[in-house]
Amino acid sequence: MIIAGKTIESTDRVVTRNPYDNSAAGDVSRASEPDVAKAVEAARTGLTELSHQTAYDRSKTLLNLAGILSQRTEQFARTIASEMGKTIREARAEVSRAVETATWSAEEAKRLYGSTVPMDAAPTGKGKTGLFMRVPVGIVAAISPFNFPLNLSLHKIGPAYAAGNPFILKPAESTSMTGEMLGQAFIDAGAVPHAVNVLTGSGSKLGLKLVTHPDVRLITFTGSRDVGEWITRNAGLKKVVMELGSNSAVVIARDAVPEDMVKRVALGGYSQAGQVCISVQRVYVHETLFDRFVDLLAQQARALKSGNQLDESTDVGPVVSRGDVDRIKSWIDEAVAHGARRVCGGDIDGNVMTPVVLAGARETDRVIQDELFGPVLVVNKFRDDDQAIAMVNNSRYGLQAGVYTNDLNRAWRYAREIHAGGVLINEIPNFRVDLMPYGGVKESGIGREGPRFAVEEMTEIKLVVFHLG
Ligand code: NAD
Repeated sequence: MIIAGKTIESTDRVVTRNPYDNSAAGDVSRASEPDVAKAVEAARTGLTELSHQTAYDRSKTLLNLAGILSQRTEQFARTIASEMGKTIREARAEVSRAVETATWSAEEAKRLYGSTVPMDAAPTGKGKTGLFMRVPVGIVAAISPFNFPLNLSLHKIGPAYAAGNPFILKPAESTSMTGEMLGQAFIDAGAVPHAVNVLTGSGSKLGLKLVTHPDVRLITFTGSRDVGEWITRNAGLKKVVMELGSNSAVVIARDAVPEDMVKRVALGGYSQAGQVCISVQRVYVHETLFDRFVDLLAQQARALKSGNQLDESTDVGPVVSRGDVDRIKSWIDEAVAHGARRVCGGDIDGNVMTPVVLAGARETDRVIQDELFGPVLVVNKFRDDDQAIAMVNNSRYGLQAGVYTNDLNRAWRYAREIHAGGVLINEIPNFRVDLMPYGGVKESGIGREGPRFAVEEMTEIKLVVFHLG
């Protein structure tokens, strides 16, 4: 736990555990409800401290942060892999993305532009000169999930700091060490101390105090749909940015060549054992390609090595908890009972599940309708583009979708008619670079991340009007 830029030690500890063998990954102090009030008090001072910093100062701190993260790559990667369960190679990739996110945030600190307003274009505007600028929104509460404990926390607190806001980061309890290490890296980068606060502990215990605190001006949350809805209901008069779940789909259109993308679709379904908000979950394949695609996909799935995530050669690490393994299995069993075919995978050893290809599930099954968050690809066939678009849109979620086609007219139609925050042509929905606008429609969220867009969310427009005679 970090309050006012200082690490606080207490005897009450959060112990994080390695999902592969349940061994202790590390421990940090557990924040209590009174710590929430202390963190908000510190952040209030942080807001004043930040008001004395220039955009140049903030940018420099964030660039220093990028350098520190880069230097500490291996330390961060081992911690992330140990407490989250992604493979060590995936964890290194997350750190390298976080370096970029810090760099983009540093650049955005220098781009807080405003504009003049042509006041005298209005009948009563004669003699008035107007301009608007962007000012910090105030204290930012950043609540982040377990699956990208470094980069997705940074997508919140990097832009917050760039815009001149102090933050209180509440990392997922199971990845508390990574959250605290990120806070420490901010301090080491030269951040103003009171702006940096990290509350490690249980979301359900600390959540109400943090979310309802009147001095918190913006809550930026990444996590599950239900917690997001609860926060939105309780937040009161605050800004909220919600990055929630999804059951992302990819369409393999009639003109596509399965051999060209099947490896990439497998990567989209099984990387991080399917625990990515934009993991491919539903694959809709034109009926003329279906059997060939399913065979090729099963070959890819069988070739992946599942096991200990800290082993350099592992492709698919464990699922985060035994409860999640049991839930995923029960959803697969339900689909099979309704007539789906388990083509391969589904062997369970501890929390490791081998990659599953499930063909022909009902559109009403949970493996289709709900967010699966496990190493499972559900493959169904479609007749024509109308049907494929309807199937993709038959979801309460809408984060990103992918479409494989080389027909420009078809691509444009899918891009226009799929309801999602992003549509990727000839790419899986997992694709993300950290500067792009990223977020969902429907129950996948409210607002956008990507430093430029997050900075917009985290600033207010302030108008100044001069009457100069
Ligand atoms: P989660 O909702 O269980 O937890 C997310 C965070 O919320 C954690 O820090 C948790 O401690 C906190 N929390 C829990 N209850 C709270 C409460 N009552 N008040 C305040 N905070 C509370 O999610 P998770 O299991 O960590 O992450 C997986 C989910 O996150 C999936 O649904 C996934 O799709 C989603 N996700 C979305 C994106 C995106 O960008 N859209 C990215 C990654 C993950």
